[in-house]
Parts: sequence; C-alpha cells; structure tokens
Amino acid sequence: MKKQLIVGNWKMNKTHAEATMLTLDLSVRLASPKREVVVCPPFTSVYSVMGGLNDSCIKLGAQNVAWADSGAFTGEVSAAMLAGLGVEYAIVGHSERRAMFAETDKTVAMRAAAALRHGITPIICVGETQAEREGGLTNQVLAAQVTGSLAGFSLDEIGRVVVAYEPVWAIGTGLTATDAQAEEACAFIRAELKKTGAAADIIRILYGGSMNAANAAGLLSMPNINGGLIGGASLKADDFVKIVEA
Ligand code: PEP
Repeated sequence: MKKQLIVGNWKMNKTHAEATMLTLDLSVRLASPKREVVVCPPFTSVYSVMGGLNDSCIKLGAQNVAWADSGAFTGEVSAAMLAGLGVEYAIVGHSERRAMFAETDKTVAMRAAAALRHGITPIICVGETQAEREGGLTNQVLAAQVTGSLAGFSLDEIGRVVVAYEPVWAIGTGLTATDAQAEEACAFIRAELKKTGAAADIIRILYGGSMNAANAAGLLSMPNINGGLIGGASLKADDFVKIVEA
C-alpha cells in the first residue's frame, strides 16, 4: 500500500491572497510530512498555489474537473488545463456537487475518466445521507455509487483512482463517523472494488467528514482507511498540520 494520503479541500474559501499565505505557511511547516499531502484550492488560486508549493512535498489538487477536454462548456475547467498547471489530483462527485449541482454517478464517471486521460488521479467521493443510514440503506447506496462512478473503466483505470468515503451527515456538521463506522464502510467499499477484479488492496480509500486533530489518529489507524479528505480543518494551517502528523 502507498503512503496514507491527506487531502485538504478548501471548497469556496480563500481569496487569491489568503490562499497564497496559507500555502506558504503549509509548505514551511510540512517540509517532510509523514503522509502524502494534497491541497485543493479554488480554481482561481490553483496557479498561485502551484507557485507557492514550488519546492515543497505538498501536491496540488483541484475540486472538480470537466468531462470534456475542451470546447463549449462555459464555466468548466478541463483536465488538460489542470495538468498543465501541475495538478495531480482532482476531487470528483463531492456530495455538495451531487446535491447542489446535479452531479450524478454518470457525470462523476465521465469526469474521473477525463482526469485519468490526463494523468490526474481522481478522488471519487461516495457516501450516504442521514436518512439512508437510518433506513439501513448505507451499503446499497455505497455499492451503487462505487459501481456507477466507475462504469466503463478498465481494471487498470480502477486501480488508479482514490475513493473517498464521505458520509453526507458528517460533512461540515461536526458529527464524525466513529472509527468503527468509518472502517466498516471503507471495508465494504474495498470489497465492492475487489468484485470488479481490480487490485483493490492497493486502492487508497479515504475517510472524510468532520475529521480534525482530535479524531484523526483513531480514524487513520483503521486498516481500510488510507487517509483523509479534510474540509473545514484544512483552512487553518495549525489544524491541518496536526491532522497530517496525527
Ligand atoms: C469535505 O468537504 O470533503 C469534508 C470532509 O468537509 P469537513 O471536513 O468540513 O466535514
């Protein structure tokens, strides 16, 4: 298994100047992190963050990626454009995009495929809502999202993705899945990946949902959790560094 992966999703936060400051702070404080670290700034700051990361070990990610390589897709940013800026990872299918921007498993699969075509690793987000968990539907939802988001992928392509388990009820709410709940879901996702025939043991599965300095160590010690996708706690260098070093 590769190193654990910690990804900061800045969402729609940080002006260009604020993003530059945070980048400089992180690159000094995470000069030789024990885990692989990625930051995903808003598109407006990708270029300047890339410059700020220059000699650091921190890698650059994006929060979304278009399914087409170029053309009449107003408001979208292509994988070719991102790869040209040094972007190595792209979040796709975040629950906020699924809920507010009509993202479906089909569009998630198309976006992830575009990322792979340009050498960018897609971080495919899946996760159940509170109602789905209470209705006993967690595994059914996860299976459908994993299968749908990887539809048409070759075994080699599946082996190149990262999957993030992000229970919707835990995102930005301060409610974290327990270590056992997160592990159970991530183990289930790995079993689903295995069913495709891909080398699922080496696919990194992240947990995301109110991960912070206090709960990170427990979650990251679970056998099927290979890192974290961090929202709120990635916006302050102190908090993010503590999670990376947890
Ligand atoms: C996220 O948006 O991916 C996330 C996990 O957010 P938070 O850490 O704020 O719950």
